[in-house]
Amino acid sequence: MAKNVTVCLTFDFDAISVWIGTFHARSPSAISRGEFGKVGAERLLTLLRERNLPSTWFVPGHTADAFPATVEAIAAAGHEIGHHGYFHDRPATPEDEARDFDRATAASSGGSDGRRAAIAPRPPA
Ligand SMILES: [Zn+2]
Repeated sequence: MAKNVTVCLTFDFDAISVWIGTFHARSPSAISRGEFGKVGAERLLTLLRERNLPSTWFVPGHTADAFPATVEAIAAAGHEIGHHGYFHDRPATPEDEARDFDRATAASSGGSDGRRAAIAPRPPA
């Protein structure tokens, strides 16, 4: 008897933003660990393409600004991109949150053909 199984594949492409935002790192060594997010994202894109799997990627605005080609590759492959704040941080006030949301929206809505537009928000924390 065949079973129907539904799986929702989602990824956070936080890259450098998690070190700057969540961990408030100031050390270049710590922040540089975020560079490997690009490597992982590209490996995942290859795997998803080989298996013909759709997915959703939550991408902070800082990551969209720092790695635009990778984020455009995610969108070009047909994956959804979710709003994930700008610096992957917890804003202290509603005004800070609104500013962070708008900045992340602007970063996520770019791209050469506008396909990077973020869908629903998911706060980092
Ligand atoms: Zn995240």
